[in-house]
Amino acid sequence: MEPDRSPAQLIAQSEGLLLDFDGPVCNVYAGSDPARIARQIAAAFNLDIETDDPLDLIGHALAIDGPVDELHQALTNAEIETVGTATETPGIRQLVKTYGRPIAIVSNNGRQAIETWLARSRLDQYVAVVIGRDPRHMKPDPQPLQLAADRLGMQLTGCVFVGDSTSDALAADRAGVPMVALANRPHKRQLFSGERCAAIINSIHELTSINPVFPRTA
Ligand SMILES: [Mg+2]
Repeated sequence: MEPDRSPAQLIAQSEGLLLDFDGPVCNVYAGSDPARIARQIAAAFNLDIETDDPLDLIGHALAIDGPVDELHQALTNAEIETVGTATETPGIRQLVKTYGRPIAIVSNNGRQAIETWLARSRLDQYVAVVIGRDPRHMKPDPQPLQLAADRLGMQLTGCVFVGDSTSDALAADRAGVPMVALANRPHKRQLFSGERCAAIINSIHELTSINPVFPRTA
């Protein structure tokens, strides 16, 4: 933890902003059932796995030397449909519109699904780089974070990453990028307290709520 700097100051002093997608930007499965999607895709590929998380299917396919690329595409297709009913995370629009420096999305969701949602939400103009799922290098692998910084032409140490899972925290730690952990469910604050996060927040609003040093003139 860096008690000297508030979460909003961390963001204000960063050169680039890296955002996980599901959680910090939107709730991908707000209008759909991830367990049902996981079941349907597992059945279509004859995978013997029971999980509520469609992303677990990729790990399973990798472990059994299964059809990873086909599964990745099938899941991306499902995600493209799913984001049609995703809900925007409160505060993210203000953060993205006011940040004023380069922004990248770094996600384990399929790139086409992310781009579909960004375009529909008209936030695509504020996002310079989208790093979606490489099924062989999913977070907590640090590679997607490094790739995002490379594409932005920046050092990871000058960026801040906002994520909402322990896999995000592990990836950030491995990559050497400060992470702001979004504890968007009550149990997550406890989860993140064991990770080396630069800050833990309950809401994205905390990242734009700097008290102005100078009084407003307008
Ligand atoms: Mg997430």
